Amino acid sequence: MDYNKLAELLFPHITKTPEDYEALYPQRDLPEGAKVTRLGPSPTGFIHLGNLYGAFVDERLAHQSGGKFFLRIEDTDDKRYVEGAVEIIINSLRFFGINFDEGATMTGDIGQYGDYTQSHRGEIYQCFAKKMVADGTAYPCFMTEEEIAQIHEQQEAEKANPGIYGKWAKSRNLTMEEIQAKLAAGTPYVIRLKSDGDMSLPEDQIRRVQVKDAIREILDFPANDQDTVILKATGIPTYHFAHVVDDHLMRTTHVVRGAEWLPSLPIHVELFEKLGWEPPIYCHTAQLMKIDEETGNKRKLSKRHDPELSLDYYRNQGYHPAAVREYLLTILNSNFEEWRMANPDADIDEFEFTTEKMSNSGALFDLNKLNDISKDVLLKISASDLYDFLKGWAEEFKPDLLHIFEDRAYLERILDLGRAEAKPRKDHIYAQQMVENISYFFDDMFRIEDEMPAEAAADVATIIAKYLETYDHSDDQTQWFEKIRQITEELGYAVKPKDFKKNPDQYKGHVGHVSTVVRVALMGRQQSPDVWEIQQILSEDRTRARLAKFL
Ligand code: GLU
Repeated sequence: MDYNKLAELLFPHITKTPEDYEALYPQRDLPEGAKVTRLGPSPTGFIHLGNLYGAFVDERLAHQSGGKFFLRIEDTDDKRYVEGAVEIIINSLRFFGINFDEGATMTGDIGQYGDYTQSHRGEIYQCFAKKMVADGTAYPCFMTEEEIAQIHEQQEAEKANPGIYGKWAKSRNLTMEEIQAKLAAGTPYVIRLKSDGDMSLPEDQIRRVQVKDAIREILDFPANDQDTVILKATGIPTYHFAHVVDDHLMRTTHVVRGAEWLPSLPIHVELFEKLGWEPPIYCHTAQLMKIDEETGNKRKLSKRHDPELSLDYYRNQGYHPAAVREYLLTILNSNFEEWRMANPDADIDEFEFTTEKMSNSGALFDLNKLNDISKDVLLKISASDLYDFLKGWAEEFKPDLLHIFEDRAYLERILDLGRAEAKPRKDHIYAQQMVENISYFFDDMFRIEDEMPAEAAADVATIIAKYLETYDHSDDQTQWFEKIRQITEELGYAVKPKDFKKNPDQYKGHVGHVSTVVRVALMGRQQSPDVWEIQQILSEDRTRARLAKFL
């Protein structure tokens, strides 16, 4: 068979050669050891935690080594395309501190290795498919869907491996005349890899391939034997082929992708071999898992059951990007938490991220742990920065809350409340929850949420009336407490809670019950930070007005 003739017959419109593309995309001029990584999302409009997790690895590997990180849009599956998806990807990742050096952007490509959108690269893929046909390593396949289904049935009956390979690959042996006749008749066809693998050999004669995965040590598997489709009937490449061509020409050094690609790695290895190219270093990341609330078992995070899989969830709820980054590093690198304990105030980018310290079995995602980490992270963020962060969140997600930002000094004092202590208050987690936490500082959101303590229920009006009568806004904390004690004694409550516990018949309740009455009247809640401090922030007018209104 004259393969060159076949290649010309199939791709007469392809005039560029592989050498032209090699020259167009030369090796990158980067320092020794610099890594080039890419994110290749499909523009489905849904961006999830797994994307962020992978992007974080890409970003760290590239930027820690003085390399490059680029965005490539993998839109060869047009059924999944959603308008505006590129914008969603870029904005969501930027929010979490992931920035690209080159690739697709909202206003066109940046960088010398484009086009960075796969659907614009048709001729490039066809050029390399043409080369493979000319080399005799790929061929046109005219099998219909029915024929393939029939083969599948037969394979099931014979207990043979499914797929198109070896004797099942019917189009492999067509003659030039047969091919020409089919083309003349307009018969649709795909281009398939002509695989060398042969699984029908005795076990010890099957060729094996070893690949060093940066996260998983050496992977050892039988060489591919499938005549995988590389170009679909439309001329559009499959993921397998597009990834190989793109990562070669874009000079990617490290391919970070999910473990779901491990089964097709043998195909990719064979494609690199057939094209005579050095493969990149693969880093197959572990699946994100969670403990199922109902069964207590580990399972994959699912789009349908776990809203926390979507990155939108974190933005809507108002998680601070620094908290999400900090948390992701704890699940990404097993030595991160230790490092953090030794370097509590260091910038997170000083941590040296490595693929060797990544889990290869399954990364356990735990929202409670994220919340705990968030509490610590927020504690280190100044009230002024928190104010800006909250305001940005409200502008995007809760415009009806914007009035709470009118008095910057007031909100900053609220946010700082109880944070300067030796054992600081750690109840800020995410914006939505923080706003609920502090809502009582704002008259329009203030509501009595809790009941009065039963022990003091009969005296509520008396307690508040006395409290208001003796209220002096200039009292310090000790003077303030002294007045509470007086009211406590006057009304027959125990000043010391333990006295009440010892002799419950002698008292109506204790000082805690009395002060809780004040708390509920002022804050609407039984639990809150220090009452005196809250009053100082609320101001004398607001405090008096609230107590008076309560009466
Ligand atoms: N487009 C692929 C996906 O969305 C990317 C896989 C890769 O990074 O190679 O899963």
